Amino acid sequence: MKLSRCRSCEEPIIWVITTNGKRMPIDAQPVVAPRGFRINETLLDEAQMGFNDDDLKPGKELLATFTAEPAKDERLYQSHFASCPDHGDWRKA
Ligand SMILES: [Zn+2]
Repeated sequence: MKLSRCRSCEEPIIWVITTNGKRMPIDAQPVVAPRGFRINETLLDEAQMGFNDDDLKPGKELLATFTAEPAKDERLYQSHFASCPDHGDWRKA
């Protein structure tokens, strides 16, 4: 997995795409939580490129699938939009 850093708070994050085809930063460390995202490496192909996001190209991506039903002690990834202490800045970007 490729780590990035949040441009606002410098926390380590990982960029993923959601099942809606949107790019989203998640916290690099998954936590035990009642809801969050599971991520899977997935190979996108042309047929899956129905997204309106020019960034997305066929190739390996991390696909984030939201769940509110984790297994016991399962660690889930959390959206960094929610956890970023500077998240107000994200909205403007
Ligand atoms: Zn941040």
